[in-house]
Amino acid sequence: MIPTDGVEEVTMIRSKQIKKPQNVLVVDDQELNRYILGMILEDDYEVLYAENGEEALKIIRQNPDSLSVILLDLMMPVMDGFTVLDILRNDEQLKSIPVIVLTAEKSAELKALQMGAADFITKPFDMHEVILARVSRIIELSEGRQLISAAEHDRLTMLYSRNFFFEYANRIHQYHPELHMDAIVMNIEQFHSINALNGREFGDNVLRILGNEIRAFLAETDGIASRIEADRFDIFCIHQDDYQELLDRFQNKVNEFSRKANIRLRMGVKPWREGVEPILLFDQARAACSLVRGNYLTHLMIYDEDMQMREILNQRLLNDLGRAIEERQFKVFYQPKYNIQCDPPKLSSAEALIRWRHPELGMISPGDFIPLFESNGQISVVDNYVWEEAARQIAEWREKYGVTIPVSVNLSRVDMFDPDLEDRINALVEKNKLDRKSLKLEVTESAYTDNGEKLIEVIDHLRKAGFEIEMDDFGSGYSSLNMLSAMPIDVLKMDMKFVRNIEHNEKDFRLVKLILDIARYLKVPVVAEGVETETQMELLQNAGCDLVQGYYFSRPVPPEDFEKFIDVRNKK
Ligand code: C2E
Ligand code: CA
Ligand code: CA
Repeated sequence: MIPTDGVEEVTMIRSKQIKKPQNVLVVDDQELNRYILGMILEDDYEVLYAENGEEALKIIRQNPDSLSVILLDLMMPVMDGFTVLDILRNDEQLKSIPVIVLTAEKSAELKALQMGAADFITKPFDMHEVILARVSRIIELSEGRQLISAAEHDRLTMLYSRNFFFEYANRIHQYHPELHMDAIVMNIEQFHSINALNGREFGDNVLRILGNEIRAFLAETDGIASRIEADRFDIFCIHQDDYQELLDRFQNKVNEFSRKANIRLRMGVKPWREGVEPILLFDQARAACSLVRGNYLTHLMIYDEDMQMREILNQRLLNDLGRAIEERQFKVFYQPKYNIQCDPPKLSSAEALIRWRHPELGMISPGDFIPLFESNGQISVVDNYVWEEAARQIAEWREKYGVTIPVSVNLSRVDMFDPDLEDRINALVEKNKLDRKSLKLEVTESAYTDNGEKLIEVIDHLRKAGFEIEMDDFGSGYSSLNMLSAMPIDVLKMDMKFVRNIEHNEKDFRLVKLILDIARYLKVPVVAEGVETETQMELLQNAGCDLVQGYYFSRPVPPEDFEKFIDVRNKK
């Protein structure tokens, strides 16, 4: 990959350069620029200069074999850099001389890369080391020409190879935040059987045709592309309005080549999002693409925007649940709750929150599957998995640290009507030799208001058995004060929305104080959720709130990361 900084690398490369003098041509109409570049380069290279494109071509033609690299300004009088690039690229003898483009014009770089520039340097000029590193790297790469084209380009399609592609994509992302670049992933359905049935040669031709058409498409718009692996193409291009049209275009090309083989393309798109790195965009584009695998009706999926995506995703998640449990793809994260009435605040317990590390779709957050499994009656499988894991974890930490960190787990309203609920939880507690108080149960307020009496009965039972119940998301349901006093609870968890604005909104803060009053009246402690800032924490502390959970202390983290909180607590 082309380095963008790193002094170590620079020294290494420079020491190599000393052995053999190399010629560098600097083409720029501004004297000052020529002067600065000369200063940077002259210790290591023979430097030649030209003031415009015409002069440059003359020098290039006089030294066709001895120029190691050309640093080319794009905007120049007489003949501009684009014209020079164009002439060089169409000249068999000259096209192998690498060109680094010099430009202040952000939008021009991409075009220059597409026209065959090997790299670009932005004006005003970077640190000297960076420029030297780029120049020497490009020379090094182009010296073994076969090597470079093998490394930079995929031989079959002449698209960028994976590493170069992501390197360039990152640069575009970094230097051109103003460009709205979408990520496209394209695959061929059942490519291996196409190969098996028609031969490798045939398969290669299909890939070549796609490569050609992708390059033709990129010549019309702005962007870069890569054959990432076998039949996976990644395209990073300026936002397009109609991806169906684009997919049809590629599909038609393939059909022209062979209708008989029945080749089907599928495409996933993740539209540009401010600040999101290319690698992430491509992960999501790939997820979208893999969602339409084997789907006979839909071959295009646009991440985010497509309502259909949700439906297909749901279907997929329901399908994959069994395997996920078997392969332990679910991970339990832990978020600490701190007692803020001590100084300094002290770790009091944790909440177990589930994540799904899906092998193809990546990390999925509970908001994307819990409601789905709730409505499909699958939630108890997932919840049991979490309870089991949490109970085991409490015991593990007790062994390791000699303290019991209570963990609360979430119960769905559906769980509450499982006749085996109490037996199951009891079994876990006994298996791990836990005190019942250390596995706390969070039940959302709306479950209480929905199912009133029945729920109260179940909870009464659990409490009598010694379990503690936390009422989750308090304030989001509509419990009346009357109902509240009849409800069996041990802790109130105040809904996040109350905390969000307490810094700025006096009315919100008064509501929080009211909830704290209610809790005092009920004689239960309050956990404030979603506490993100120090001010929020202090306001709550002063208002007498007991416990706090939120990003201010920590996000939910994997168990191994949670251990540092226990460590700190133990040292006190
Ligand atoms: P919840 O029980 O209200 O959990 C708190 C949610 O708030 C968590 O989201 C947590 O990551 C997030 N959070 C914590 N601190 C902050 C903060 O400072 N700022 C903000 N903006 N958010 C914060 P998460 O993990 O995505 O879970 C979402 C919901 O999914 C949970 O809401 C819970 O209702 C459900 N859930 C999670 N794990 C399980 C489970 O194992 N079983 C069941 N049935 N539901 C679960
Ligand atoms: Ca909860
Ligand atoms: Ca909550």
